[in-house]
Amino acid sequence: MSANEGHATPKRIGIFGGTFDPVHVGHLVAVVNAMHGASLDRVLMVVANVPWQKERTRAISPAWVRFALLKASIDGVEGLEASDIEIRRGGKSYTIDTVRETKARYPEAEVFLIVGADAARGLASWERSERLSELVTLIVVNRPGTSVTSEELAGWRTLFVEVPAIDISSTDIRARVREHRPLDFLLTRETIDFIHRSGLYSEGAEIAREQ
Ligand code: ATP
Ligand code: MG
Repeated sequence: MSANEGHATPKRIGIFGGTFDPVHVGHLVAVVNAMHGASLDRVLMVVANVPWQKERTRAISPAWVRFALLKASIDGVEGLEASDIEIRRGGKSYTIDTVRETKARYPEAEVFLIVGADAARGLASWERSERLSELVTLIVVNRPGTSVTSEELAGWRTLFVEVPAIDISSTDIRARVREHRPLDFLLTRETIDFIHRSGLYSEGAEIAREQ
């Protein structure tokens, strides 16, 4: 697809990466408010293929499942795009490679990296983080239970965007499924229906999750 097809060429592009196992309203409320707060033209929600920092710490659902649920959840939301760029690249997912590819696709655009406060605290451990800090402006959104100071983000161009605080995580959602607690209003209808139909996150589910 050409950069102009259907849209004006975006000038301010956000990248919001995650494992999204599964995507929940905490992600969705954060991303639309970050997009609005920082006047972004478009945000790519990028599903990690192999989230290498989580590998071997817990089972991860197949990338195609995580991507399909994200895509269905944001269908029709203006400005949001589900991106399988890291899945197509394969292997371990490094944000810096995604930023480089995004810059190649949109050479005129300024690239912003949206991260929750917990992810922001870990940035120093990311692959080639120094180079990454030269390529992007961070958009840090608040996340209940964590905080990050501008001193901790020294060296990064940073914007803080206040979003409605929603104290949920995918870890909490997976526990809810196992314990048969309610999912309503924490996930989109599509995601809830899929979890119920497929048994995802339940004991003995048919969809194999990689350890
Ligand atoms: P897990 O519990 O499996 O780690 P998670 O809910 O933290 O899942 P991730 O896919 O790890 O979700 O996070 C992707 C991005 O979304 C990170 O930048 C994270 O900080 C942000 N994020 C996740 N949940 C929230 C939330 N409730 N509010 C704000 N930001 C969030
Ligand atoms: Mg997380």
